[in-house]
Amino acid sequence: SAAVSLETVTKTYMVGEPVHALDGVDLEIPRGSYVAVMGPSGSGKSTLMNVIGCLDTPTKGTVYLDGEEVTTMSDRERTRIRGEEVGFVFQTFNLMPRLTAVENVALPLVFRGIPVGERRERATELLERVGLGDRLDHVPNELSGGQRQRVAIARALVNDPALILADEPTGNLDTETGENIMSLFEELHAEGNTVVMVTHERPVAEHAERVVHLLDGRIERIEELDAVGAEV
Ligand code: ADP
Ligand code: ADP
Repeated sequence: SAAVSLETVTKTYMVGEPVHALDGVDLEIPRGSYVAVMGPSGSGKSTLMNVIGCLDTPTKGTVYLDGEEVTTMSDRERTRIRGEEVGFVFQTFNLMPRLTAVENVALPLVFRGIPVGERRERATELLERVGLGDRLDHVPNELSGGQRQRVAIARALVNDPALILADEPTGNLDTETGENIMSLFEELHAEGNTVVMVTHERPVAEHAERVVHLLDGRIERIEELDAVGAEV
């Protein structure tokens, strides 16, 4: 089965007039693929990511993660799936300001009842992997934007999720730092993870294999890219 499958997914917000943030979206994301999502502001990119990541439920339609229908699950089950299968990376990092890098990365393990020694070991391993082995006990304020995003990526990976969702992961970073983050995503993809990322930046999207273009809550087109990012 596909990593993600959406069948005629609609998400409607009622703000006086109904707004269709997503409007009958059909999308299949094969396991192990690398997908970028692009589109103008308000086209539904964040809503799409939130629906895929079980942060939000659609108004209509069906969502499957790894063949499992999530749209009929209880909130509790959806929370479990999200914790076990999905790693989120946000533009704004969303780190806890008073916690150190290691504590931030280990936080998802606290909720799973993993003992402290094991948590620290796993978090340290991941921070070393993203090149922050020498910043374990720094708080976010003591880290650069790129370092904070790497902490956030390490945290997203701590439960070993098969699906990595990133909403503008390089949005707050300079070009060079952004490129480093992209290399990290490429490694994750090469290891067999499924990666879906929203970006406004064409050069960032060109790291992916496919670009899904959204417009007014619909898929306008899907572009297949070759290895150097040119349209096939
Ligand atoms: P994008 O990420 O592409 O900017 P969004 O998914 O954030 O687009 O939003 C798509 C549409 O849905 C926009 O018109 C936006 O105003 C609307 N929308 C998103 N979230 C909400 C919400 N919580 N309440 C009302 N409208 C919303
Ligand atoms: P935008 O794409 O409009 O710039 P953000 O990137 O700040 O907005 O957030 C994207 C979406 O992810 C928003 O709908 C927001 O509600 C949601 N989001 C951001 N941070 C978190 C979080 N820590 N937990 C759950 N949802 C979040």
